Amino acid sequence: MGVDLRLHMEILLKNAGHVLTMDDPNSELADVDIRLRDGVIAEIGPDLHSDGELVQASHCLITPGLVNTHHHLYQTLTRAVPGGQDALLFGWLKTLYPIWARFGPDEMFTSAQVGLAELALSGCTMSSDHLYLYPNGARLEDTIDAAREVGLRFHPTRGAMSIGESDGGLPPDALVEEERAILEDMIRVVDAFHDPSEGAMVRVGLAPCSPFSVSRDLMRDAALLARDKGVMLHTHLAENDEDIAYSLENFGCRPGQYAEDLGWTGDDVWHAHCVKLDRQEIDLFARSRTGVAHCPCSNCRLGSGIAPVRAMRDAGVKVGLGVDGSASNDSGNLVSEARQAMLLQRVARGADAMSAREALRIATRGGAEVLGRDDCGQIAVGKRADIAVWDMSGVEAAGSWDRAALLLAGPTRVRDLFVEGRPVVRDSAVVSFDLEAAVKRQNILAAKLVE
Ligand SMILES: [Zn+2]
Repeated sequence: MGVDLRLHMEILLKNAGHVLTMDDPNSELADVDIRLRDGVIAEIGPDLHSDGELVQASHCLITPGLVNTHHHLYQTLTRAVPGGQDALLFGWLKTLYPIWARFGPDEMFTSAQVGLAELALSGCTMSSDHLYLYPNGARLEDTIDAAREVGLRFHPTRGAMSIGESDGGLPPDALVEEERAILEDMIRVVDAFHDPSEGAMVRVGLAPCSPFSVSRDLMRDAALLARDKGVMLHTHLAENDEDIAYSLENFGCRPGQYAEDLGWTGDDVWHAHCVKLDRQEIDLFARSRTGVAHCPCSNCRLGSGIAPVRAMRDAGVKVGLGVDGSASNDSGNLVSEARQAMLLQRVARGADAMSAREALRIATRGGAEVLGRDDCGQIAVGKRADIAVWDMSGVEAAGSWDRAALLLAGPTRVRDLFVEGRPVVRDSAVVSFDLEAAVKRQNILAAKLVE
């Protein structure tokens, strides 16, 4: 699968003040060293030695890299669009579709670079992406190329829409594709880019946009194809009341039933939002090991409601976090998203509904489990070296009695971030590629879209 770019490199994190490992017993360590070598965590303990670079971490909290399980990176080019700022989901989509129809490969590549860099600065080492429109020659690999430059672990999904306005759907006809062409391109991108091996930097998933933008046949065919290819399935599900009403009216059942009937439950499936799952649907997801991408800021932003995350977790549903697209957040700060997840459960269920530690576990190990990555999401020997280093000596954490309660105080930007043992952020700046140039290009592209 492509050229192996892993370098023989070693980094020693020295005197880590506090480590949240997110391992099975949820161990917390103090004053230890962590040695990263050739992409994995090679050693954890006191007084380790290394010929590699030393990174002092005595005033730091160290966590596994955060995992983003739902995004539409291309939307970083349409943040805070006036017509969409205060609209509900369906109205919001109708405002933005005509703008997105003018995108092409440059827009996809640059917006993905900027969105992934933004995530990296907030502690994220692995992100999925849901790209469901391909106007003007745009392709999934535009985003894969961007992720390779930024250096994040990437789970792009080949999304799709096939029911346009003339067929009673929501998107304009120019943004939908023929279902045969969609399936052919799904096969192409899986064969070309999916890497099933341990430590993979790219894994591809299949992701029709939502039950209201593709046919029942495409949902079923995508599920069959995913099982045939051994890749994961992803879509939007039960996002708000309109979504439930649409399902009842058009499919004669609730979204959970629709998903189950079409093969869209299982360990290899994760659904975004699930704000409106009822008791039976939560039990179905727990029983079938179906994952959920919880997107609290987007749910607030679009007024969709509060997802029953406490009930999901108590029932044993796998839950990860997602910032969702940057047009419905409009920020892509994953550690802030974790804080929002914690706060929302408290709004719904009281101050003891979710601790800072649990929300951070959902943001790390939880996300890795949702994406099927047993090799990521925890700090343990042999796991991938995806690490976030949080400097607790600055203003945001000054006076904090518990450094591990990162989500109650701060900071909200990492000092250092390592992915596969390689530096992506150092001293709170992206070092893996020229972010400043990408931001300039992004603003030029956004200005052209406004014209
Ligand atoms: Zn979404």
